[in-house]
Amino acid sequence: MIGSYGGISPRGDLLLLRKLADHLAGKTFLHVNSTREGGGVAEILQRMIPIMSSLGINTRWDVITGDQRFFDMTKKVHNALQGYTESIDDRMWEHHLEINEKNAALLDLDADAVLIHDPQPVPLVTFRKEGVWIWRCHIDVSNPQRDVFSRIGNYATKFDAAIYSVARFAGAMGINEFIIPPSIDPLSEKNRQLSDEEINDTALKLGIPQDRPVILQVSRFDRFKDPTGVIMAYRMVKKYNDCVLVLAGSPATDDPEGAGVLEEVRQFASDDPDIHILLLPPFSDKDINALQTMASVILQKSLKEGFGLTVAEGMWKAKPVIGGAAGGIPLQIVHGVTGFLVHSIEGCAFRIRQLLNNTEMAVHMGEQAREFVRQNFLITRQVRDYLAVWYTLLEKKKSLVEL
Ligand code: UDP
Repeated sequence: MIGSYGGISPRGDLLLLRKLADHLAGKTFLHVNSTREGGGVAEILQRMIPIMSSLGINTRWDVITGDQRFFDMTKKVHNALQGYTESIDDRMWEHHLEINEKNAALLDLDADAVLIHDPQPVPLVTFRKEGVWIWRCHIDVSNPQRDVFSRIGNYATKFDAAIYSVARFAGAMGINEFIIPPSIDPLSEKNRQLSDEEINDTALKLGIPQDRPVILQVSRFDRFKDPTGVIMAYRMVKKYNDCVLVLAGSPATDDPEGAGVLEEVRQFASDDPDIHILLLPPFSDKDINALQTMASVILQKSLKEGFGLTVAEGMWKAKPVIGGAAGGIPLQIVHGVTGFLVHSIEGCAFRIRQLLNNTEMAVHMGEQAREFVRQNFLITRQVRDYLAVWYTLLEKKKSLVEL
C-alpha cells in the first residue's frame, strides 16, 4: 500500500516511514476518538488505519459512546478551549468522567501505544494500562478559557506526551510535547483527480451552475467557521462580480450545535438563488472533491481553527485558498504565495475579487499551493511523525535514537 505513494509523497518521508515501521511492526496501536464521521479527526483516521496496518502495525480505532448530556458538555468544552465563555459545573465534569469510565469498561485499552484524540475521551487516561499513552489535541487552544483548560490539563499530565498541530498551542504541561500538523491523503476519494464527467455529474446533481465562478467553503456548520461572515463577504463581491456561493457541510455525530447554526445560516442567506447551502450526507467525498475542483476560489474564513484540513484539500486541487488568520491556517497559507490570509470580512471580499479579476495570478498561486501541500501536508508525513514520536517515547532512556 505504501508503495502507491511513490512519486507523490516526498521520497525522504517514505524512506523514514519504512525504517520506523521496521522497528515497530508487530506492536499494537490504538486510536480513540468520539465520532466515526464528520470533521477532520474522523477524516484522517479513516485513511490512517489502513496505512498503519499495511506497515505491519496492529492498528485499531475505537469510538467512545455517550448520551446527549455528554456531547452537549463536550461541545461546551470544545467552545471554551477555543476561547468562548462557557459555564461547566462540577456535575458536568463528573458526568464526563463517568461516561469515560463506562467506555473504559467496554473498550480493550490494552495496546503498546494509545493515541487519545481531543477532550471527549481524555478521562480514559485515568484507566490506562500498560503501553505509551499520548493525547492528541486537534483544537485551537491559543487562547482557551483558563479553568476549562486546566481541568483538561489535569488529565493531560497523566499522559506520556501530548501532540499539538501548531507550536503556539503547546501548553507547558510538564509532559513531552510534540508538534505535528495534520494531513490529507492524496489517494482518497476526496483528493484523487476526477474526470470532467465526474465533476459535471456533481454539478448537475447538486444544482450548481457552471457558467459563473464558484466561491466555496466546505465546513461543519459551526460558528467558529464564520459562515455568516462568508455570506457577507460574498455580498460585497457580488456587487461587482457575478458569482455563486456554495456553503457545503454535513453533520458530525459529536456536534449537537450543527442544526441550529445551519438554520441561522439559511435565514441569513435569505432567498438569494445564487447562495447554495448544501447539507451533504456523511461520506460525500467525491462530491466534496468535485466542488473543490470546480471552485474558482476556496474560502476557510475560520475565526478559530485547529488546523483546517479543508485548506489543504483545496490547495491540493491547485486552488488559491483564502483563509482566516487563525490557528493552523497560517501554517498552510503563505500569504500572497499559496493563497491569502485575511482578518476581516472586508479583507476576505477584497481578496476574492483580486483572485476573480486576475486569473493568471490565481492559477500560479494554485500551482504553488499544491506543491506546498505535497512537501508538507500529505498523510505519509503524518504517519511518519506519529511513529517517530512513539519510537522516541519507547527509546526515551537512550541518548542515541537509532533509525
Ligand atoms: N467535510 C466533509 N463534508 C462536509 C464538511 C466537511 O466531508 O460536509 C470534511 C472536510 O472535507 C474535511 C473535514 O470534514 O476533510 C473537516 O476538517 P477540518 O479540519 O477542516 O475541520 P473540523 O471539522 O475538524 O473542525
